[in-house]
Amino acid sequence: MAAANENQKAQQPAKPSRFFAKREKVYPRSVKGRYRTLKWAAMVVTLAIYYLAPLIRWDRGPSAPDQAILIDLPHRRAYWFLIEIWPQEVYYLTAILIFAAIALFFVTSLLGRVWCGYFCPQTVWTDLFYAVENWIQGDRNARARLDKAPWTFTKIWKKLATHAVWLLIALATAGAFVFYFNDAPTLWRQIFALDVSPTVLWFMAGLTGSTYLMAGFAREQVCTYMCPYARFQSAMFDKNTMIIGYDADRGEPRGKHKKGDSWEGRGHCIDCTACVQVCPVGIDIREGLQMECIACGLCVDACNDVMDKIDLPRGLIRYDTEQNVENRRAGKPEEMKVFRPRSLYYTVVLVLIAGLVLYGQMTRKPFELHALHSRNPLYVRLSDGQISNGYEIKILNKTHSDAVYSLSLDGLQDYTIEMRGAGDLQADRLHVGADRVASFHIFVHALPQARTPADIRFALKDAATGETATYGSMFISGDGQ
Ligand code: SF4
Ligand code: SF4
Repeated sequence: MAAANENQKAQQPAKPSRFFAKREKVYPRSVKGRYRTLKWAAMVVTLAIYYLAPLIRWDRGPSAPDQAILIDLPHRRAYWFLIEIWPQEVYYLTAILIFAAIALFFVTSLLGRVWCGYFCPQTVWTDLFYAVENWIQGDRNARARLDKAPWTFTKIWKKLATHAVWLLIALATAGAFVFYFNDAPTLWRQIFALDVSPTVLWFMAGLTGSTYLMAGFAREQVCTYMCPYARFQSAMFDKNTMIIGYDADRGEPRGKHKKGDSWEGRGHCIDCTACVQVCPVGIDIREGLQMECIACGLCVDACNDVMDKIDLPRGLIRYDTEQNVENRRAGKPEEMKVFRPRSLYYTVVLVLIAGLVLYGQMTRKPFELHALHSRNPLYVRLSDGQISNGYEIKILNKTHSDAVYSLSLDGLQDYTIEMRGAGDLQADRLHVGADRVASFHIFVHALPQARTPADIRFALKDAATGETATYGSMFISGDGQ
C-alpha cells in the first residue's frame, strides 16, 4: 500500500516553482526615539510644504497669475516665486532638475539613504498611512490578529474606517497636486461647486488611486522592486558614507539573557527582535547592509530602548561608516571624513550649475526677438529692380507691462521694411502686450547684394528703456546680379 502511494506521488506532476516570491505582509511596531521624532518632523514639514505651497500668493501685476508656484500649461509658463520660465527657457528647468539630482547624489554620498528614509514621498505617505492604521486598528500584534480574525462587526468597521481615511488623504493629495497646475483658489471654489473640468477630474481620480495603492498596499515593495534609485545609489557610497549598521563585534554571539546573568563570553544582542519588529521594510539589519534598508533609523531607536532597559551602552545598531568599523578593528580612533574627492566633485558641479542658473536669471532679457526667413518664395524681384525677402518676426515681451519696440537691421546698405497686414503698422512702433508673444510679417526691400546670401542682423529696441535684442538672419537675392 505504502509503495503504491509512493508510486502515485512520483507520477504526479511537480508543482511549478513561483516566479515571484510570495509577499510577507509587514506589520511594523511603533517605536519612540530620536530618529522616530526626526521622521515625524520631516513628515510634518514635507506634507505642510506640499499641501500649502500652492496657496501662497505672489504679486506679479495684473497681467500674470498671482500664485507663487504654478505650472500654467495653457499659457505655457512656469512660475516659482521670482523665477518665471517660458517654453524657450526650458533649459532652466533642465538645469534645476540636474541640480536636484546631483544634490541628492551629494547627500547620499555623505549620509547614505537619508532621502529614502525621511523625505521620499513614498516613505512619507506610507508612514502617514501606517499612522492611520495604527490609530484605528492598534499596534503590530493587534493588526496582525485583526487580519487573521473572522469578519466580525469590529473587523469590518475598523477596516472600513482605515480605508476611508486613506482615501480622504489620497484625495487631498491629488487635489493639492492639481493646484500646482491651476489657480488654487479658483479651482477650490470650482471643486466645491462641483464644476470641475473632466481633465481635472481624471487627474484627481488617477492620483487618488495611485496614492491609495502605493501607500496603502504596495508600500515597501515600491522601494524594493520599483524604485530605480534604490538600485543604483550604492554607486554613490564609499567607505566614509554613513549607513545604518549592526555592531556584530559587540553584539555576537547573540542569545537570550536573563536579568543577573553574566555578559562574559557572549555578545550584547539579546535576540529580542525589537529591531526587526519596527522595520518598515521587514528586514533584519543584523544580517548586514541590505538593498531593502531605507536607513530610517527606527531599528536604532528600538535597540537603544532595549539597551537602556538592560543597562548596556546604546549604539549596538547605529549610524556608522565602514571606515570606522575597520578602524575599530585595527585599534585606530574613529573618524568622520566629510571632505573627500567624491563630495568635492559633487560640490564643484553643484556650484557650477547654481552659478549658471543664477547668471542666466540675472542677465535674462526682458524681451526676445526671433526672425524666420520665408521659404516660399525665398526672394522676389520687384519691377524697380529691388529684391524683396519675407520674414516672420516674433517678439516675446516677458515683462508685466505693455511695450513699444522699433525694428531695424544691419548688413544691408539701403533697405526699407514693409509691414504686411494692418495699414498703420510701422516697424518703429511695434506694440506688444504685457507677458505676450506677438508675430509680425515683414518684407525687406533692398538692391541685389554682391554676396548672396548676405548676412543681416535684425535689431529690436525697447522705446522706453533703450535696451536692444538682436537676431541673425540672411538676405537672399538670387545670383547677386
Ligand atoms: S534590538 Fe538590539 S538586542 Fe534586540 S535583537 Fe535587535 S540588535 Fe539584538
Ligand atoms: S533596517 Fe533599520 S534603518 Fe533599515 S529600513 Fe529597517 S528599520 Fe529602517
